Amino acid sequence: MGTFDNKSVLVLGGSRGIGAAIVRRFVADGARVTFTFSGSPAAAQALAAETGSTAVIADSADRDAVIEVVRSSGKLDVLVVNAGIALFGDALELDPDAVDRLLRINVHAPYHAAVEAARRMAPGGRIIVIGSVNGDRMPVPGMAAYALSKSALQGLARGLARDFGPREITVNVVQPGPIDTDANPADGPMRDLMHGFMALKRHGRPEEVAGMVAWLAGPEAGFVTGAMHTIDGAFGA
Ligand code: NDP
Repeated sequence: MGTFDNKSVLVLGGSRGIGAAIVRRFVADGARVTFTFSGSPAAAQALAAETGSTAVIADSADRDAVIEVVRSSGKLDVLVVNAGIALFGDALELDPDAVDRLLRINVHAPYHAAVEAARRMAPGGRIIVIGSVNGDRMPVPGMAAYALSKSALQGLARGLARDFGPREITVNVVQPGPIDTDANPADGPMRDLMHGFMALKRHGRPEEVAGMVAWLAGPEAGFVTGAMHTIDGAFGA
């Protein structure tokens, strides 16, 4: 018996990186998993074939597409919102359209997906959003929009935990530090700077984040809600 046998899990942004590790973890634990992708159809198809999960194209920048994919998922036990992008650069120079697109993907989509998911969850439902330790600490310039978006998720979790608590649906944020993915490779140019902030001088692995997500979605975490769960090698400590 797997922890998530007969459970239905939707992962927004599951084709690569942390999202793909979350898909693999839930499948390994017995869940029926659907995940979305946008720019990486080949990776999505390969992951679906490898795991027996279902890949659905849906751009998280498109609110209606996000709501529709949640709505068409039927009865949901677990929603994980992982899709997120970063934007680097001088705040005085950044394209405002790019900033607004980041906010649609990183903030608007999690909010609307969470609300739509709650409509179709029974008591015991779990909503987990992937934030960032940068929601707590932003030690470098050039990432204010990203930090803003990840701090916003903290308010989302605190507020929706109150809204959905009476229905026994929990809402939590997982806040990774540097994790080895395409977005933040362990051998990238920022490596030494980031490791300098950390107690554990290494990038985390996507599977380590997936393990925390699985715990939050599992039976031992039923009393955990409205909370931020940092997994960052003490980047933010
Ligand atoms: P990657 O860039 O490696 O992967 C991002 C995933 O999100 C891909 O599956 C991508 O799918 C999906 N995605 C991105 N934009 C969209 C979109 N518009 N619509 C649908 N899916 C989308 O990132 P990571 O795995 O590193 O990051 C995942 C999450 O973790 C993000 O929210 C990020 O902010 C957060 N995080 C990451 C950290 C790190 O160091 N890696 C640290 C802290 C937080 P596709 O390619 O198909 O579009």
